[in-house]
This record gives sequence, C-alpha cells and structure tokens, in this order.
Amino acid sequence: MELLPLLQRLAAEADPGSGRVADYIPALASVPKDRFGIAFAPLEGDVIGAGDWEQPFSIQSLSKAFTLALVLSRVGEALWTRVGREPSGNPFNSLVQLEHEQGIPRNPFINAGALVVTDWLCQLEADPVGHLLSFLRRESGNPDLVVDPAVAASEADHGHRNAALAHFMASYGNLASPVPVVLDAYFRQCAIAMSCRDLARAGRFLARHGTGEGAARLMTRSEAKRMNAVLLTCGTYDAAGDFAYRVGLPAKSGVGGGILAILPGRGTLATWGPALDERGNSVAGLEALDRFTTETGWSVF
Ligand code: GLU
Repeated sequence: MELLPLLQRLAAEADPGSGRVADYIPALASVPKDRFGIAFAPLEGDVIGAGDWEQPFSIQSLSKAFTLALVLSRVGEALWTRVGREPSGNPFNSLVQLEHEQGIPRNPFINAGALVVTDWLCQLEADPVGHLLSFLRRESGNPDLVVDPAVAASEADHGHRNAALAHFMASYGNLASPVPVVLDAYFRQCAIAMSCRDLARAGRFLARHGTGEGAARLMTRSEAKRMNAVLLTCGTYDAAGDFAYRVGLPAKSGVGGGILAILPGRGTLATWGPALDERGNSVAGLEALDRFTTETGWSVF
C-alpha cells in the first residue's frame, strides 16, 4: 500500500469540528485549532508525513509514555506497588478516585500516576528531565529538542490541581522526593516540544519490541508488551475503550493535541491536531487514526 498519498489525503481532509483547544494551560490556548500533521515511521528508515508534521508542539501527556518506559525498564515490576494499571474511567486529573484508592493512582497515565513515575525518575536520576531529553533526542534523531519554558511556567502558575494530587499522595507516603521537585520535573517534561516526525521516531522502540536506535535494547520484549498493553487500556484518558474500538492500536494522547500510536512489528503513527473533544483527545487526530487503520487494516486486531 502507498502510504504517503493516504497520509496526504488524511491531512487534507482533517477537520477539528467542534473541538476546542485546551485553555486551562494559558500558553496552549493561542495555538490555531486548524493545524494538522500526521507522520508514519516504519521500523527502519525514513519517516514520511503530511500537513504540519514537522511543526513542534507541546507534547504534554505524551511525555508520560516515555517516562514510564524509562522507569519500567529500570525498576521492573516493583513499579506496580505504587501505581496500578487499570483504566480509570475518571478524568485524568481526578482527586476523588485517589482518595478512594488511598493514594495509589489507578494507572501511570492519569496525572497522579504520572507524578509517581516522575517521582521515581527523580530518585533514579539527578537531572530527570535532562535524562528524558537525552533519550528523546537520541531516539528521535533530533538533537535540538528542548523544554518550552513559557509552557512550563504557564503550567506551574496554573498547576493547583497537580499540586493537590502530589501533596495528597505525599500524605499517603507515596512520593519519595519533595513535592516541589516532582512538580517541577513533571511540568517541564510536559512542556517538551516535538513534531509528529520526532514523536513517530522516538516511539519506534515500542513497535520494535523494545529495541531502540542503533539496535540498543531499551527494555525487554516483555516490558515492551506490557507498555503497549497499558497504552491500549489507559493511554487515551477515560476514552480508551472508544479509542480501542475505533482505532485498535496502543496509543498515548496529550492535551497539546498530539497522539502517538504504536503498530507493533510495523511502525508508529503520530498525529497533531490541537482541537480536543470533551475527553481530551484530538478530534482530527482520532478521526485520522480511525481512517488509517480502517483503510490499511493495520490494527492489532
Ligand atoms: N501537563 C498537563 C497536566 O498535567 C498534561 C495533561 C495532559 O496532556 O493530559 O494537566
């Protein structure tokens, strides 16, 4: 199948519909809602893409997939003593569920769970965000990746709910580092800017069963399977069921409008469309991924 014409058609027909750009982080609110990019990275070789596929945007929660990979590959199953791996069915920043579950977040992709993973990275690395950036630069092949300081500052200024989640978990003894240290690392990891091209390349190790650039083994085959399982069941907020139904791929989305989807044994797809549906997933990205897997037949099912 000729993929580039398909990507070009999907980009040309992308429609943000009634979706809305996230505005609870003010620095994200000014992004035009009709931007759209899509990229496909095969297991080896060049990434192809269409639309705004080389335009950097704020990766936000997509960063959670990469921090999880870094921590899971270092600490293994011990991770699951401090965070669960079940879909939440609640909004990504819910406090209610956390109280109910005594400070153990439901999964690593809701904000509370991601804060635990970041806390663990803070314990493993003196410069956790620098470590994450080195990983992303190496895997994406883009040495220029940086944190957008304006987005990080904007989120810190408006991060009351994340601060509440972190303090709440600290009260249950589920944070090892000081709350301000964890929040600072978390806000900066979310504020990394990457393009669809960068993301598609950086995620390839998940399609290659744990093997990164230069044939480096980043995690075991079994860990890569577990990562993809958690992405499928928990990676797209409390709409993971609908996402699996429509797209049929492990994926992570972010409120910056990005989605990274994994086609195990085949490659990765990254989309960017800043207008979000009410669950927080990109309207145009979800539609394009749905059409991509429908037209190619390349889902995991
Ligand atoms: N930095 C955002 C927050 O913590 C990430 C949200 C997201 O992309 O889901 O609210």
